[in-house]
Amino acid sequence: MRNYNKLKEYSVFEINSILASLQENYDIVRLVDVEECSVMEVKDDGTIEFKQSCFNIWNRNNRCANCSSLRACMTHQHVDKIEHLQKNREKVHSIPIYLELNDGELEMCVIECVSLAGVESPDYEIEEPAEYINTHDVLTRLYTQEKLYREIRQKLKQDPEGDYLLIMVNIRNFQVINRLFGVEGGNHLLTGIADIFREECSKDEVYGRYHDDRFVLLIKKEKFHENLFLEHLQTVKELIDSPIYTIQPKLGIYEITNKNYPVSLMLEHAEVAVDSIRDVKDVLSVHYEPEMLQRKMKDQRIIADFEKALTGGEFHIFLQPQVRSDGEILGGEVLVRWLQADGSMMLPGEFLNVLHRSELLSHLDVYVWDKAAQLLQKWRGTILNDLYVSINVDPSDFYYMDVPKVLMSLVRKYDIDPKKLHVEITETALVEDMDRQNKIVEKLQSEGFIVEIDDFGKGYSSLSLLKGINANVLKIDMGFIQDESNYERGQVILESIIKMAVNLNMGVITEGVETGEQVEKLVRLGCTHFQGFYFSRPIPVSDFETVFQELNS
Ligand code: C2E
Ligand code: CA
Ligand code: CA
Repeated sequence: MRNYNKLKEYSVFEINSILASLQENYDIVRLVDVEECSVMEVKDDGTIEFKQSCFNIWNRNNRCANCSSLRACMTHQHVDKIEHLQKNREKVHSIPIYLELNDGELEMCVIECVSLAGVESPDYEIEEPAEYINTHDVLTRLYTQEKLYREIRQKLKQDPEGDYLLIMVNIRNFQVINRLFGVEGGNHLLTGIADIFREECSKDEVYGRYHDDRFVLLIKKEKFHENLFLEHLQTVKELIDSPIYTIQPKLGIYEITNKNYPVSLMLEHAEVAVDSIRDVKDVLSVHYEPEMLQRKMKDQRIIADFEKALTGGEFHIFLQPQVRSDGEILGGEVLVRWLQADGSMMLPGEFLNVLHRSELLSHLDVYVWDKAAQLLQKWRGTILNDLYVSINVDPSDFYYMDVPKVLMSLVRKYDIDPKKLHVEITETALVEDMDRQNKIVEKLQSEGFIVEIDDFGKGYSSLSLLKGINANVLKIDMGFIQDESNYERGQVILESIIKMAVNLNMGVITEGVETGEQVEKLVRLGCTHFQGFYFSRPIPVSDFETVFQELNS
């Protein structure tokens, strides 16, 4: 993984000699304070004098708040830019550094090096700085949303006969990139995407940054080659080099059918399209269809109804038994169901993602955990006393609350044995920030909870996870077995995982078991605990209790 924070540090006493050595190769070398956008001069005693502002250095027309030095700082990367100096176009290299001030504080600034060789043929129009600043995004130097609206409107007006596509580009899980690689990593990616637009788009096309990690392109239908464009976009993967996270740019394509339609609505259609594949792995582009808007409205209804449904008791817990191969029930996984007033039942797949995106999921999770803990209290002293329940923790829960603390408070509230509350954490949640997550896992274990790694094998970094996280139980995703391709290899991998877990003193549960043959095979491979439709679907708590009582009386 690239380390974005490792900038060179120079003290105020050594910086001038660094600048002097650079002057051997460049015509102009200077130190720029980016926040003030001014040139700094470091005196012999280490004090700093601020000279002209950035604007004055350059020909007034050509310098702006989007200077390459600011961009270099935001991305912690060297940035080259063609600038206009005394009516000539020159190449400027901006090198971000830390300057250690007299008092020991580190200040980020930029060394700018200019070669007065001149660069020919301007490839962009020179604009007035104020206009440029107002219409261009600071980080990427692409059009802002407002400017996009205007330019798109104008383009469509100029060419009433042309057929146009409006394309929205979005990066899957951009917030994860920010969490994993810091804001600098995220910025590095965004500027990289902007560069691709600059390189690949012609002057006839309108493109800009819509907001956050969303970019927009208006292009003539006959000029758009979807696969080629996707191919160009895929090159951003090289910008962040990570074994655990693959960057995936996605496209939502809206064909403009009525040019008089408000541009904001056209953009909304392109956005709805790209959002419809946000959580669909490996689908990189989609064309807008009216049903997508209906889906969005349904999602909005889920969000609007959520709080009322939660307080109104519409969320129920179901239990799916976890069993030994002979069918003996050891406990159950708690799976939420939304039973609506009209009697219909919604499965988690229909609403969890929506709640997750709206940052509401943790409310639901705490509610579900409370119900689970309450159930353990109810079972105390009954025939169900020895059973455990297994709850799901969404990756985002760790960012909204202190999960061990919340679970401990439930243990106290219901006076239950924490060993009977198993905590399922998905593999993907754990790899995001392994050191931090491992501390949380250890904390949970020290409080007596059993920690299970959920969906093991679904992600990409399972082995490093096993090394880094000391969980109690491995829940193996049935993807291996259900996937008919490479069946034999899947079997070998499965067997090795089971052996490895056993050697690491971990329990193993295989989930998603649907047939007797699968159970037989898994038993041969060394698996002892199961969960899946073959034994039972998730069922209401009262049914679970009845089944257990019937089997054990
Ligand atoms: P999961 O944690 O992997 O839970 C197992 C899912 O697999 C359940 O889907 C279950 O019904 C399904 N399943 C079990 N056995 C089989 C089988 O033999 N074949 C097949 N094809 N599927 C099987 P469900 O209940 O729809 O839940 C889906 C996911 O939603 C869960 O996946 C879990 O990640 C999440 N989830 C459910 N309840 C909660 C909750 O209260 N909080 C959070 N954060 N997530 C939850
Ligand atoms: Ca689970
Ligand atoms: Ca699972």
